[in-house]
This record gives sequence, structure tokens and C-alpha cells, in this order.
Amino acid sequence: MFDSLQDRLGSILNGLTGRGALSDKDVSAALREVRRALLEADVSLEVVRGFTDRVREKAVGAEILKSIKPGQMVVKIVHDELIEMLGKDQVALDLNAPAPVVVMMVGLQGSGKTTTTGKIAKRLTEKQRKKVLLASLDTRRPAAQEQLKVLGEQTGVATLPIIAGQGPVEIAGRAEQAARLGGYDVVILDTAGRTHIDEPLMVEMAEIKARAKPHEILLVADSLTGQDAVNLARSFDERVGITGIVLTRVDGDGRGGAALSMRAVTGKPIKLIGVGEKMDALEDFHPSRIADRILG
Ligand code: GDP
Repeated sequence: MFDSLQDRLGSILNGLTGRGALSDKDVSAALREVRRALLEADVSLEVVRGFTDRVREKAVGAEILKSIKPGQMVVKIVHDELIEMLGKDQVALDLNAPAPVVVMMVGLQGSGKTTTTGKIAKRLTEKQRKKVLLASLDTRRPAAQEQLKVLGEQTGVATLPIIAGQGPVEIAGRAEQAARLGGYDVVILDTAGRTHIDEPLMVEMAEIKARAKPHEILLVADSLTGQDAVNLARSFDERVGITGIVLTRVDGDGRGGAALSMRAVTGKPIKLIGVGEKMDALEDFHPSRIADRILG
């Protein structure tokens, strides 16, 4: 991820650090290049504009440019603003609520929702010793509930028994009850997706939310869809309300536009990233580490 951006920014910023004195004009020229590199990485235009404006404001001015190593100072400003844009601190899953804590997974079909549900369950079970129950609320796709059951078997996590004919809200109620009676710490609800956002999907999500009262609502979005992922997060947040984002297929994303603009546009944190198909290919999203990686 960020390969091309890393190359581009690296050479632009090296051009600055390689020189003794800098003028306002030098910085402005470099920032124009930075702006172009970010746009080519598919970062949202409004985010790029805000970013370069803030860097320019801090970098252009007597103190920085007259310092002993002005280039390094500018690079530090870019680094700090990148972290700011990415959301500053890592935000972990919040399971701080009376058990069973309900986590609701939402997103479009094919975004990696079911896979991510399995990954999170595995991580909570193995690393945090949580007792987790999985439930598929996808009654639309015939194989969906079965797919989650298989994932549960693979990862050693319990799944709610399938009862044919039940609707999503009914299943959510049954999952909550089973989790309470079974002494589960966490129940993860894998909801149905669609190929695109439509009204029935939003209504269904709102009904499930009202019934299940989730503590976390995680939007799963495909990193490869770039700004569409960002717009999707905004729509889901406006209609359903989300508490965080999981960006999937980051392993195949050479540009990184969604990761870079998600927080700044939606105000919601990327909590986790999917970096492969395997059940342990899930990582925390650390703004400072990502900024380090981008700046090499
Ligand atoms: P859903 O329809 O949203 O539940 O999507 P699935 O969980 O069924 O995932 C669709 C496909 O994406 C599957 O082939 C997954 O293996 C794959 N997938 C999910 N997450 C990732 C990821 O982080 N990286 C990669 N490379 N593939 C992923």
C-alpha cells in the first residue's frame, strides 16, 4: 500500500531536504507536487486542499525558512499533518459495555463483511479470551448463513443455529437472547449487503439497530473502491450511524486514497484493516505508523 505515493513524496521531499536555504516559492512549488501526488493516490479533493493549506500555513514564514535545516522542518510538518489527517491516535474496538456486547457489521455485498466478522471473532477469542457468538442476519443470500457457520467452525467460534424462515430483526433478537443465556461476552451480527445502497437496505439496518442496540456499528468497506468507499461511509453514517470503519483489501491497494481521506471526510475512525483473505490477516490502523510508512 502507498507504494507510488511513497515514491512520489519521497522524491519531492528529498528535493527540499537536499538544499540549504528555501524560499516561499520553493515550498509552494513542492506543495503543488505534493498536492498532485495525493490526488493521484485518489485522496479526496477537499482533504488534499485542507492538507496542503495547513502545511503551507505552517511552513511558509520567516522562522521555518530561516532555520538551519528548513527542508527537514517542512518534512516534519508534512509528517505531522499526515498523522492529523489520518486521525492522530489509533482507535481500538470498544467493548466497554455490559455483556453481551453487540457488534453490528454493515456494508455492501462483497466488501468482505463476513470474512471480517470471522477475523474479528478469531482475534477476540484468541487474543482477548472473549467468548464470542456469531450470527448471520443475511436472509437474502441463501448461502450467507451457511458461510458464516463454516467460518465459525474453521475458527472455533460459536455461531447461532440457523432457523429457516426467520427475518433479520427476529434473528438479532434470538442472538441477543442466546448470548445472554449462554454467558457470551460479545455477539457479532453479520448483516445483509446489497450491490449498492438503497432505501430497503437502510431501513433494514435501522430496524436491526433499534432491536439489537449495538455498542459498535462497524462499516466494512473495500479499500480498492477509493472515494466510493468514503462516500459509502458517509451515507451509512448519516442514515444508520456508525462507530468505526474496517477497510478491507488494503493488501491489494497501491494507492490508498480511501485510507487517507476516510477519517477527514467522515469524522469516523478506521479501526481495523483487512490485509488478506486468511483469518489472521487483520491489523489495527495506526495513523503514525502509516505516516511513517508513507514518508519512508
Ligand atoms: P461479504 O459479501 O461482504 O460478506 O464479502 P466476503 O466476506 O464474502 O468477501 C468477499 C471476498 O473478499 C472473499 O473472497 C474474501 O476472501 C475476500 N476478502 C475479504 N477481505 C479481504 C482482504 O482484506 N484482503 C483480500 N485480499 N481479500 C479479502
